[in-house]
Amino acid sequence: MISQYIQKLFVGEKPIFQDVKLSIKENKMPEISVSPETGKLLYLLVKMTKPKHVLEIGALGGYSGIWLASALDEQGTLTSLEINEKFAEIAYQNLEKAGLKKKVNYKIGPALDLLQEFKQNGKRFDFFFIDADKENYQNYVDACIEVANDGAVITADNVLWKGEVVDTNRSEKAKIIHEFNQYCAHHPKLESLIVPIGDGLTVAVVK
Ligand code: SAH
Ligand code: MG
Repeated sequence: MISQYIQKLFVGEKPIFQDVKLSIKENKMPEISVSPETGKLLYLLVKMTKPKHVLEIGALGGYSGIWLASALDEQGTLTSLEINEKFAEIAYQNLEKAGLKKKVNYKIGPALDLLQEFKQNGKRFDFFFIDADKENYQNYVDACIEVANDGAVITADNVLWKGEVVDTNRSEKAKIIHEFNQYCAHHPKLESLIVPIGDGLTVAVVK
């Protein structure tokens, strides 16, 4: 498998990532963290673009959060939005274990409400990772653009929906994702592409 080849050669997850996956299993949380290659790609994108403030939508157990936060500069911060209080707690514990607790700030609640608060408070971000409820992906992109600094990067996970987006007879979820992909492709404020790694990662820059 191509993905195993890439993982073996280029990802080499540190033990902390296995610990996070174990904590997700033990706490009976959904096992839907990003793939290791997606994690590594997010890490590289953060290293390349050197964002000061990163916003993650959908924390789960902190797996993607560790990839993102560990790529930050000294002054960089990660804000992570999570609707489930218990998940946010576990994610925080995992980031703490990874030595990253000083960089991260978890906010609990529906992400759209929290994004609205950021807008009102003049809070701005340079890098976004969208990975929560798929039904709101279009809303998230627009809310992210509203709190984005010039040239910010927006990424989104699961945009190939296990390849189902190309089926002619799409499932409900695949339809939602397909519409999101069309939305991004034609968005006047974005230049974007899907990178077919893991479950598909949108990479976009705000015009
Ligand atoms: N990014 C994580 C996986 C996130 S899974 C990783 O790869 O490690 C999706 C997460 O989004 C779940 O933890 C879920 O509780 C959260 N979520 C779902 N709907 C949400 C909403 N409206 N606002 C904030 N978080 C939400
Ligand atoms: Mg995902």
